[in-house]
Amino acid sequence: MTFELPKLSYGLDKLTPTISRQTLEFHYGKHHQAYVNNLNNLVPGTKFENAPLETIIREADGGIFNNGAQVWNHTFYFQSFSPSGGGEPTGVFAEAIKKDFGGFSDFKEKFSKAAVTLFGSGWAWLVKKQDGKLEIVQEPNAGNPLRNGLKPILTFDVWEHAYYLDYQNRRPDYVAALWNLIDWKIIESRF
Ligand code: MN
Repeated sequence: MTFELPKLSYGLDKLTPTISRQTLEFHYGKHHQAYVNNLNNLVPGTKFENAPLETIIREADGGIFNNGAQVWNHTFYFQSFSPSGGGEPTGVFAEAIKKDFGGFSDFKEKFSKAAVTLFGSGWAWLVKKQDGKLEIVQEPNAGNPLRNGLKPILTFDVWEHAYYLDYQNRRPDYVAALWNLIDWKIIESRF
């Protein structure tokens, strides 16, 4: 099986000023593409040769896990955005946010804190546990909650390559701005 870089549903200059064309050219065009290429070079001849990404995330280790999880994580991240994103979730998902975090602003504050305080490279995740409850988790490096039996709902990439061209060292500013791009219809469909 050959993995491919998924197409984006928006143009490279459509997420400005939150995410610049230059950041997308590097983050999507170079980094995401490199994880796809690395994975395609690593899996032939292994038991993961015909495995879906989810199996790789649950069972692989080392380079195959790192590159496979990074392919999945970036696809999930880039698919969360819309040029007309922002605002707040609605419906059952909004009810769940209210039940588990007290309300959207409390959730936003707690998730932002998880993204800002994650030490080094990694991902902040909103996940649905097997009992249906929502939870915020931090994962270092290529970490993905599927490996722990959790269902990913939302993620923020806090590797420096996600924000350094636009925000330099100001990760809190990147995290605060990213909410403007979130397409809640897509996030709700994952819940
Ligand atoms: Mn990234």
